[in-house]
Amino acid sequence: MKIVKQNNRLVTPDKVTIPFIEGDGIGKEITPVCRAAVDVAVGKAYGGSRSICWREVLAGEKAFCATGSWLPDETVEAFRAYVVGLKGPLTTPVGEGIRSLNVALRQALDLYVCLRPVRWISGLPSPVKAPYKVNMVIFRENTEDIYAGIEWQQGTPEANKFLKFLTEEMGVTGIRFPETSAFGVKPVSVEGTERLVRAAIEYALANRLPSVTLVHKGNIMKYTEGGFKRWGYELAQREYAKELAEGKFFIQDVIADAFLQNTLLTPEKYSVVATLNLNGDYISDQLAAMVGGVGIAPGANICYESGHAIFEATHGTAPDIAGKNMANPSSLFLSSAMLLKYIGWTEAANLMVAAMDKLLAGGKATYDIARFMPNGETLGTVEFGEHLVNLIAGES
Ligand code: NAD
Repeated sequence: MKIVKQNNRLVTPDKVTIPFIEGDGIGKEITPVCRAAVDVAVGKAYGGSRSICWREVLAGEKAFCATGSWLPDETVEAFRAYVVGLKGPLTTPVGEGIRSLNVALRQALDLYVCLRPVRWISGLPSPVKAPYKVNMVIFRENTEDIYAGIEWQQGTPEANKFLKFLTEEMGVTGIRFPETSAFGVKPVSVEGTERLVRAAIEYALANRLPSVTLVHKGNIMKYTEGGFKRWGYELAQREYAKELAEGKFFIQDVIADAFLQNTLLTPEKYSVVATLNLNGDYISDQLAAMVGGVGIAPGANICYESGHAIFEATHGTAPDIAGKNMANPSSLFLSSAMLLKYIGWTEAANLMVAAMDKLLAGGKATYDIARFMPNGETLGTVEFGEHLVNLIAGES
């Protein structure tokens, strides 16, 4: 029943258990839609020879109400044991010990790649003139950078101690307002960079994509972001010299601000993108906005060495529309299709993606998208899900 990693590849049993977190807010509405669609796609693709046994695990508000913990140990252990899982959006606890449940899960399983494919689907409203030129896969580093959470609040003894260390021991003179500064530390390592860039190159090769672009701000942050660029190039030359020489892919780099501009002007120049944590945050959301917004952008957090992966809705819990049958399940739906592809059930994944393409091309969508479509027809979450299931089953 469990997926295992053998000889560097995932082995998926025909009857596989997949743990899932339903999610808070609209999670209760979108997660059932996605699970039902996956079941129909798997049934249609494999005629009953393969199936998923869904196992619910708790996190977020639902976990807190049931157990008093926002992220029970059993949940982390289930994702560890079953290797691959699905996650709806979670409320971020305010004033609790955990900064973010998503970050806690990523850290517990060392999910160092945040994977975000960005592709325009015909029919989707877009603020840019040629959204069909956008077809990228972002590899955002997930464990380092300014996100490591090493920072000290202004005016605290810790901030003062750090200031003293910087000025007295490290000879730092460039802090403009030392007495009123807060401080943060930005760790970027050789290992962290190399495993991220290696994963991006492997993805490009496996999917026959033409290029890997390193996006960084190394012109200003020379040792951290500049290191990312240098170590990325060195890794490519050292481990992929043959593939580079044979023209199987090429590697380039772009400074982050220019990259954001270029994605608007010449998005067709980019394919696989490897970048640091904070850059990746901005880039993922800009690109998502160019092809239909956060309601539709899928994503996953992955550790390629162990195989651990959590496929997720990239948006939040949308409390403003929760319980109103208005939520767009597309992000989690497409992430579920990514999950199926990741475990090797590509035929079922393709059925799901084809159904989504067809439904949107026909102008049917949830309110967040339909209102911007010329002649768009608004469907509720449940009805949108029913149309998807019918298309997957080949009944419409
Ligand atoms: P949000 O993504 O929940 O909502 C932002 C806007 O987008 C809202 O107007 C919402 O209605 C809309 N929206 C989001 N998803 C949608 C969907 N699927 N269909 C239609 N409309 C959608 O962001 P927020 O309001 O800043 O955060 C709400 C809660 O979610 C907070 O507790 C936040 O911490 C949490 N959050 C969780 C995640 C996650 O679990 N990955 C990500 C972001 C925010």
